[in-house]
Amino acid sequence: MIHEESFEGVGLSSNVYVLKSAEGYYIFDASGHPDLLSFLEGAGIEKDKILGIFLTHGHYDHVTGLVSLSNINVKAFLNLKDLNLVRNCIGPREISDISEGASLLDKIGLKALPTPGHTPGSTCFYSEGESLLISGDTVFADGYFGRTDLIGGSDSEMKASLKYLSTLEVKSLLPGHGNYILDGGTRAISMALSNANYLL
Ligand SMILES: [Zn+2]
Repeated sequence: MIHEESFEGVGLSSNVYVLKSAEGYYIFDASGHPDLLSFLEGAGIEKDKILGIFLTHGHYDHVTGLVSLSNINVKAFLNLKDLNLVRNCIGPREISDISEGASLLDKIGLKALPTPGHTPGSTCFYSEGESLLISGDTVFADGYFGRTDLIGGSDSEMKASLKYLSTLEVKSLLPGHGNYILDGGTRAISMALSNANYLL
């Protein structure tokens, strides 16, 4: 169900997750790689079967790869509170608000959860049925959380978001950087909440 590609050696870049449904592929984060499409095609993903691209937030290392998908007729979804961050990276490409992607997400049992703190529009994607959380740069598998000292970051919002996430049942935790885990997500989130309460 999960393909993960970490594009190394090309500068700072996010993880990219591809969830496969009967109808096609859902892409989560677009990485900072300008040739993302070649990597996806190399992994056997046909471009006309991509149903939507969902962005956890607007930082360049998660969105710049959209440039390589500009000739594909597929929508990219983002919490538009991060729109100004994206504009600096990908120019005028059309971006839809995450709320418009809700019905598409619903087809695979995912919900978009607003989790501000790293950026104002940071979003996690959660499947209750699969106990799976795509967590962007809000929480990482090693029990740490994303930076709050960049533009639009907020210590108090980060702590509130982690507190909320810690109430969820999470086995698989798929973060924006570093390793993902297929078990123990809830524990990593609890650790991140403790670390945030101590450090922020
Ligand atoms: Zn980020």
